[in-house]
Amino acid sequence: MLTGRSPSTRSDDRARPDVAVVGAGPIGLAIAWRCAARGLRVEVHDPASGSGASAVAAGMLSPVAEAYFGERQLTGLLLASAARWPAFAAELTEATGAELGYRTEGTLMVGLTGDDLAEARRLWAYQQGLGLPVTPLRPTELRDREPALAPRVRGGALAPTDHQVDPRLLVPALRTAARRAGAVLVPQPVRHLSEVDARITVVAAGCGAAALTGLPVRPVKGQVLRLRAPDGVAPGFRHVIRGYADGEHVYLVPRVDGEVVLGATVEERSDTTVTAGAVLRLLRAGVDLLPELAEYDLVEAVAGLRPGTPDNAPILGPLPGRPDVLAATGHHRHGIVLTPVTADLIADRVTTGVPDPLLAPFRPDRFSSDFPESTGAVGVGGLAGSGAVGVGDRTMEEDRWS
Ligand SMILES: Cc1cc2nc3c(=O)[nH]c(=O)nc-3n(C[C@H](O)[C@H](O)[C@H](O)COP(=O)(O)OP(=O)(O)OC[C@H]3O[C@@H](n4cnc5c(N)ncnc54)[C@H](O)[C@@H]3O)c2cc1C
Repeated sequence: MLTGRSPSTRSDDRARPDVAVVGAGPIGLAIAWRCAARGLRVEVHDPASGSGASAVAAGMLSPVAEAYFGERQLTGLLLASAARWPAFAAELTEATGAELGYRTEGTLMVGLTGDDLAEARRLWAYQQGLGLPVTPLRPTELRDREPALAPRVRGGALAPTDHQVDPRLLVPALRTAARRAGAVLVPQPVRHLSEVDARITVVAAGCGAAALTGLPVRPVKGQVLRLRAPDGVAPGFRHVIRGYADGEHVYLVPRVDGEVVLGATVEERSDTTVTAGAVLRLLRAGVDLLPELAEYDLVEAVAGLRPGTPDNAPILGPLPGRPDVLAATGHHRHGIVLTPVTADLIADRVTTGVPDPLLAPFRPDRFSSDFPESTGAVGVGGLAGSGAVGVGDRTMEEDRWS
């Protein structure tokens, strides 16, 4: 258990930190903020804070629209984190004065064709069966909410509690909050965990966690476009729109500053090349759903790498045989929505030494048999036969759009 230090001890820069966080993306920074705010001496190592997946992410906070078949434990964690978002955003803005682009208009899920709608309705029925707030809308109700939707959109549903935030505003705000709480940012990479000297090390390096720990975190490429309505006018829609369009799954996220994020591919690749084919598919699906997009300026085409795991869920907790090294990685498509709950649970684990029951399904040792013994910079011996928790109800993600 780690407890806070007196201010005089904290000011000694040469003293061994209580907590070293590897990675200053949203996850590492939020953990650093929470730990520093509890009086712990915290260092965060990252040569390029915010340059990971968060630089590309859409920032949808969508536990309902992203409640997929076979991912019930993950859905539970997404809901727990989304419930913390309003207070988290308010606290972060109060601590820094920063705007986060946090918007609460809700999410519309729409189907373009009859087939698209049939596919979407299957998922909505599953989500409603879980007791989640999904309200089917007639086409007229849909257009009352968003008149800019294409007339041929066949139907939709509202997920009013699925919100959004701008990750490009979130990460600098978290950096400021962590610094103001006393965390020290060290602009260097960590190549091996033995380079870090702290009482507890938290590996929050996104895709970089695999090389440091041997955990099965793999890059899952996502290409997105950013557009702007001409002449600086606001986009002609307010909700996040998640659409099924002739078999393609796309989303349109309208920012407060007028930007629209159109995404995203899900590709089992580790490069960040933008391809003409992906741009074509994204634009075609986007314009099919919202024709006015064709008049927008295309301001950016970019690709990022989600830190994926074999069961699509994050990896949270001590490495097997290493109680002093906590993993907080593998957040895949959900790292922005999962930032508050991850930060709280990991900070609790650091300060109390006791894991919250919410962490149980996400322990690193659930992948014991998947650890490639040769890739880990940290020894991974002793993993075979350690207590993996049941994850049989989750499926490996197919190569699809999301
Ligand atoms: C196209 C796309 C769309 C997305 N949309 C959403 C969305 O709508 N909602 C949502 O919740 N999530 C979304 N995500 C996922 C989200 O971006 C990630 O889950 C999230 O960024 C993970 O945060 P992180 O801090 O763990 O990792 P990252 O954001 O990847 O940050 C990792 C940091 O670690 C640093 N690092 C790596 N290796 C080392 C090392 N050896 N030493 C020191 N530092 C190191 C990197 O420089 C980087 O700053 C999306 C991702 C993509 C690619």
